[in-house]
Amino acid sequence: MENYDVIVVGGGAAGMMAAGTAAKNGKKVILIEKNPVLGKKLLITGKGRCNITNYCDVRELIENVPVNGKFLTNAFYGFSSYDTVDFFNEAGLETKVERGNRVFPTSDKAMDVVEILMKFIYKYKVDVIHSSAVDVMQFGKVFAVKLENNEVIKGEKLIITTGGKSYPSTGSTGDGYKYARNFGHKITKFKPSLVPIISKSILPLEKVNTSKGCNVKDLQGLSLKNAAIKIVDEKGKIVYEDFGEMLFTHFGVSGPMILSATSHIRNLDGHKLIIDLKPALSIEKLDERLQRDFKEFSNKQFKNILKNLLPKKMIPIIQKVSGISEEKPVHQITGKERKNLITSLKELTIQLIKFRLLSDAIITSGGVDVSQINPKTMESKLVPGLYFAGEVIDCDAYTGGFNLQIAWSTGYAAGISC
Ligand SMILES: Cc1cc2nc3c(=O)[nH]c(=O)nc-3n(C[C@H](O)[C@H](O)[C@H](O)COP(=O)(O)OP(=O)(O)OC[C@H]3O[C@@H](n4cnc5c(N)ncnc54)[C@H](O)[C@@H]3O)c2cc1C
Repeated sequence: MENYDVIVVGGGAAGMMAAGTAAKNGKKVILIEKNPVLGKKLLITGKGRCNITNYCDVRELIENVPVNGKFLTNAFYGFSSYDTVDFFNEAGLETKVERGNRVFPTSDKAMDVVEILMKFIYKYKVDVIHSSAVDVMQFGKVFAVKLENNEVIKGEKLIITTGGKSYPSTGSTGDGYKYARNFGHKITKFKPSLVPIISKSILPLEKVNTSKGCNVKDLQGLSLKNAAIKIVDEKGKIVYEDFGEMLFTHFGVSGPMILSATSHIRNLDGHKLIIDLKPALSIEKLDERLQRDFKEFSNKQFKNILKNLLPKKMIPIIQKVSGISEEKPVHQITGKERKNLITSLKELTIQLIKFRLLSDAIITSGGVDVSQINPKTMESKLVPGLYFAGEVIDCDAYTGGFNLQIAWSTGYAAGISC
């Protein structure tokens, strides 16, 4: 078997970018992918639409990578989100920019992104083998990758782009961490990131005898579009605040704000989620509005008055939490009860339990320790000729296309440097 200049293990976003870039730069490259297809995870990104990147400058890219963002400075300058858009446009993929600078293919098809990357690697004659790399070794200066059928691929340089441990059905089963460890690399602790949260109880209002808690499950399927949330720790300190969309599920809470929150929090012990269902109204304005409604519909029952204020599924919850009987005529609601209603609407509180599993997370937080990787080239500081790119590295970002940008930028840095 011939020797390659570069072996790339893992044919996802980072692997295809690294392999194509190295081959375009004149290297003889082989890409090893365990799935029968390349870019399996890419196909499910952005709900099948693939949010390729975020159209913003490097400073903003770094700000959106809460874990080891600064480590990526050189890689982001070397291949920025503007370069990503140019790369795909020049290769024939039309793109569009949506809310929050999120870039998608105009076709809304992740498959089109994968096809562009495949064209890229085939254009520069990258050899592709569909087989699992089962072992990775080094003899002298030569790297050797053993495949399932015991075949050994040899190369001068090795780029590991095996991804994280999330959504293992896409092929990302954490193999790269094992290889890195065998080469002496430190792997930082794993944690799911951009992951839904398991929660059960909507808490009753404190000091209100009649107020009853309820189960989050009762809200399953409800999505809130313009809510404000706070997550507080066991001491009541705010650890995350956001405004936007969230979703109630059969196990707890999810949706964009919740997923983003999980990039900021390492564990959820004693944490609570506080939802402001009426963020556009201050307490005073909400009180005025309620008093106006109460006056206008003074003979109606309490449950009927909430129809104008809340989505249907939320009404029984707010009734229970505020402790006001649903049949009570509005003119009998006391000032104190109105105050409790306002608190329920502005501070609906949910006890959080824990993150869903790492396998259900969009991103694996943790990975190859960045202190042992050269930030300019992605080359190992311990083993010359060994490179890492993509999610296998301990860097993770918020939603919005930033995680794929990490894959493109680090893949490019490794490919151009090896
Ligand atoms: C549901 C979902 C939606 C997402 N949506 C977005 C989005 O819209 N925008 C965004 O920026 N990010 C998104 N992400 C995150 C993004 O998909 C990842 O950050 C990105 O795919 C990481 O790229 P990678 O190349 O490092 O790893 P991967 O894409 O995971 O690729 C790793 C590849 O290595 C292969 N491999 C692993 N081990 C071996 C082995 N031993 N031998 C051979 N091959 C191996 C795997 O089969 C896989 O193909 C999403 C993630 C998920 C799960």
